[in-house]
Amino acid sequence: MLERPLCSAALIAAVALGLALPAAAQPAPAQPAAQAFKVGALELTALKDAEFVAPNDGKTFGVDAGPAAVEKVLAEAGAPTTGIRLSVGGLLVRTGGRLMLIDTGLGPAAHGVLMQSLAKAGVSPDQVTDVLITHSHFDHVGGLVTADGKPAFANAKVRMTVKEWAFLQSQAGSKALVAAISGQVETFQPGAVVAPGITAVPVDGHTPGHTAYEIASGDARLLDIGDSAHSSIVSLARPDWVMGYDGDAKLGAASRRALLTRLSKSHETVYAPHFPFPSVGTVNAAGAGFVWKPGL
Ligand SMILES: [Zn+2]
Repeated sequence: MLERPLCSAALIAAVALGLALPAAAQPAPAQPAAQAFKVGALELTALKDAEFVAPNDGKTFGVDAGPAAVEKVLAEAGAPTTGIRLSVGGLLVRTGGRLMLIDTGLGPAAHGVLMQSLAKAGVSPDQVTDVLITHSHFDHVGGLVTADGKPAFANAKVRMTVKEWAFLQSQAGSKALVAAISGQVETFQPGAVVAPGITAVPVDGHTPGHTAYEIASGDARLLDIGDSAHSSIVSLARPDWVMGYDGDAKLGAASRRALLTRLSKSHETVYAPHFPFPSVGTVNAAGAGFVWKPGL
């Protein structure tokens, strides 16, 4: 999420320069939080980074439907209608002696608290062996560097798809970040097995190399869907609406519906970094759309 405005190159540059974010884009200060749970034999921990309210201004959710239609969906779910509440977070996975972090949040320069949440989980950044990136928007890669621009996970490989690394490198506002992490980056092809029990699952449309990650242990499975859906309410109730954060809106909407349809049939556990913390639950069919059921 947060491509507009938080994921924009201009914003990355603004944060790098220490400039204030526009009021509408300010993540509210979040309390650090870490919630552990199991998928089969694997230990996972949801880590909180930030809270955010996207204004219902017709530029992000329901671009083709308009703010009144979005307001109606929010009201029907009993949610506040003035904006769309979103979390930002990361997911820690312990597997085969490796400590893997999926996405890094906004980073300390933009007031993300993922590092403090990691400390609550009893993990120091130098223990992380692999950082898996779903995509290179700022609210997912901002935490790759410290407040002074140094690599935040000094001993980790930073892994993303070939296309996503190319995309990140192509953005003028990402030059400092790219320079800081380039020695750590390892790329992979869509669909790759990136670790024992962890497979990259391409979900096209959000960014050029956006990927989900499937985590499997025995018969248990969890899919970290990245930014395949942003709001646990609006994105599920109306998956076909144009989402302003998607780079390719038509493809993003088609991928979202296909993925939600599959998840509503498999009933596997889902981690969605922008859904309410701890962002874990299942997707269920409801009318022409879907509904989020939080919990394991
Ligand atoms: Zn995002």
